[in-house]
Amino acid sequence: MSDQAATSAAPAPRPAEPPWAPPSGVRITAVRAILTAPAGTTLVVVRVDTSEPGLYGLGCATFTQRAAAVATVVDEYLAPQLIGRDPADITDIASTLHVSGYWRSGPVLNNALSGVDMALWDIKGKQAGLPVWQLLGGRCRTAVPVYTHAAGRDPQEVADEVQAFMEQGYQHVRCQVAVPGAGTYGAPAAAAAAGARPVLTPDAWDPAAYRRAVRELFAHLREQLGPEVELIHDVHERVHPTDAVRIAKDLEPYDLFYLEDPVAPEDLEWLRILRAGTVTPIAIGELFTNPAEYRPVVQERLCDFIRVHISAIGGITPAWRLATACELFGVRTAWHGPGDVSPIGHAANLALDLASPNFGIQEQHLFGPAAQEVFPGCPEIRDGHLWPSEAPGLGVDFDERLALKYPPRPAVPGQAWRPPRRADGAVQRP
Ligand code: MG
Repeated sequence: MSDQAATSAAPAPRPAEPPWAPPSGVRITAVRAILTAPAGTTLVVVRVDTSEPGLYGLGCATFTQRAAAVATVVDEYLAPQLIGRDPADITDIASTLHVSGYWRSGPVLNNALSGVDMALWDIKGKQAGLPVWQLLGGRCRTAVPVYTHAAGRDPQEVADEVQAFMEQGYQHVRCQVAVPGAGTYGAPAAAAAAGARPVLTPDAWDPAAYRRAVRELFAHLREQLGPEVELIHDVHERVHPTDAVRIAKDLEPYDLFYLEDPVAPEDLEWLRILRAGTVTPIAIGELFTNPAEYRPVVQERLCDFIRVHISAIGGITPAWRLATACELFGVRTAWHGPGDVSPIGHAANLALDLASPNFGIQEQHLFGPAAQEVFPGCPEIRDGHLWPSEAPGLGVDFDERLALKYPPRPAVPGQAWRPPRRADGAVQRP
């Protein structure tokens, strides 16, 4: 019951203040969200300034489809609760802000919380003169293996691309292929089949054709590339769960590293059936927005890898706890790493990857020259690995003046993510 406001007529201590003495003399003086799009995708950066000259932190709050809503939560709702607080109390601040609206979770609030949370870890690292991965217990690997994306109009194009990546040192590659005569996720359109039937919906999603195309793709890849390269495929929750079971079973002979998002968050109970029917490893979770959603999946060992979009669950603090919980159940991490995670968010992924014994794999994104200029210190990728930086904090800076040169695209509702449609015109989940 949210009747607190009605009963607090007299001025009272700010509810966000903890009952203990602030641990340091430093105070938060400003909290702001900044939107920029140096690579075309709108990124949301949170900057937390402090009373110590030159000491500030940066966090990733990118929910590109609702960027302005996240910025409003940061500027209008979180900033007033943070100004005057000691940035050292990261856990208490995360707990306080999480319940400060009574209703909690969801991608808008969580991304706003993540921007603040990462910025506070960045500040703590800068205060200590240590990278964040040192604050998490230090590294447990030299560098972080990453996977990249191969896609083609037919299986041979995909095989050629994987081969080229292998020559650059990649050992893990996600593979997506066009579906003849239909649209698909993560691959270019195939040439229209000769004598194709007239269709009601151009580029419609055709689950049966997709299932055949994926089976043919992986048969071809193994034949062409041999057994060693680790192959990944993202179903992107597009099929009926029955088809997900069939795809996982069909792909068993081709020894995938994992099959990603075979079912939608609304269909998680199907994972039990899928698990009972196939040994193809499963990765899931980039759409989850509450760490509690992972509980049955991890506890019952219904997946092998968690695909968390770290900013969508609230930042480093909840992700670190979740990773530790997963370790107890033999579940590994595969943090989401697309282009709608800012370089600051990728640095947070890297810090967790370095420090987690149950790290599995990291999705990479290569930022172009404009993004690298706006975000100096962008994590370095070479030889199929992400390499740690010794810079204090998250190690990525933000040139706000330069960022103004890349304003976000006008927000056109529905343009950031258009749902696919089936042949009869009905909307298909993403
Ligand atoms: Mg995915």
